[in-house]
Amino acid sequence: MPNYNICKTCGTIFETERGYRDFCDSCRVPYKKPEVLPKPQLKYKPRKCKFCGAVIKQPKKAQRVCDECRTPAKRKSNAERFRAIQQRVAEAQRKAQPQKPALTIEEVNRMALSMGLTYGQFMAKYGG
Ligand SMILES: [Zn+2]
Ligand SMILES: [Zn+2]
Repeated sequence: MPNYNICKTCGTIFETERGYRDFCDSCRVPYKKPEVLPKPQLKYKPRKCKFCGAVIKQPKKAQRVCDECRTPAKRKSNAERFRAIQQRVAEAQRKAQPQKPALTIEEVNRMALSMGLTYGQFMAKYGG
């Protein structure tokens, strides 16, 4: 048996088969699931992939390697490449350091004389 209700919004008398309703069909607000907002994710500044230099636009946490370089196969070759680069850098640094020139006896003698010392005195003071 149909019921007659008056819409609380527009006042229209409408028929409904299921009990009492406050609003007519056109005023009824369809039930909406509350929107689930995605959790705000911590944003990290874009940084460069340490292997290929590609910019990681949205790095996760401490991500330093782009997705492409993170595949296992790449990871291995990259690790090797990275080691090679480190070695090259270390080598370059070693070469860049001026090496103590080995003095010849004559040079030592000259220095000793210029300081008023004998070779023996000079070596005792500065040698070894
Ligand atoms: Zn209505
Ligand atoms: Zn990369």
